[in-house]
Amino acid sequence: MRSQIVAAAAALVLGVAAPAAREAVDRPPVAPTAAKVAPGLVALPCVGDSPITPVAPVYCRRDRHYVTERAKASLEAAAATVAKRFPGAQVQYMDASWPAGRRPMPPHRSHGDGRQIDITLFYVDRDGRPLQRPPTRNGYEAYEPPRFERERVCVGQRAPHNDGKDPPQDRAWRLDEARTRELVRTLAADPRVRRVFLEPHLKTRLGFGSNPKVRFAGCAAARHDDHIHVDFY
Ligand SMILES: [Zn+2]
Repeated sequence: MRSQIVAAAAALVLGVAAPAAREAVDRPPVAPTAAKVAPGLVALPCVGDSPITPVAPVYCRRDRHYVTERAKASLEAAAATVAKRFPGAQVQYMDASWPAGRRPMPPHRSHGDGRQIDITLFYVDRDGRPLQRPPTRNGYEAYEPPRFERERVCVGQRAPHNDGKDPPQDRAWRLDEARTRELVRTLAADPRVRRVFLEPHLKTRLGFGSNPKVRFAGCAAARHDDHIHVDFY
């Protein structure tokens, strides 16, 4: 779940506010972290060729890639399941937790203790060909909008949920339903996973209407049709 100041704060935290800062998203780490790691937390892979990988180097460079050992095992199992069915598919993450293990980790209302992570959706181009990575540099804000207005939530509210705007209709990408469904299905079936946040219209569209673990995060949270948030036990 992301905070009430999601757009501005995320821009600051992730370095996407200005062209100069935007370059920093892709700059590789220059040195291993010297951060003190809280007991029970481990780093997720930072290299590009593993089944689970950061969307951009910034998440490792800023030490936002720590999770509990249990969460790491669950994510690796999910990534292996998705890659088995869809060869070449990588589970790509954005913010997880920092090594200190303290909640919350701004701009999020949660994150920080290793039991939360944001994962990008999968996308295809307009001809249905799988994209290797999300169409935004930091992985956030490539929203897959509701197909019908009646599916839209938080309508008319001054809520953080409404900070995220639909992309243009002529955008070059669309949601990859098959790979995204497989990822959500795998995570929700894992007893190590407590819940998965997804927008209501995607929950219905991907066939999770009766799955109690797949939930709406509420109007006080950011939209979850550009990424999914996973909470682990
Ligand atoms: Zn989150």
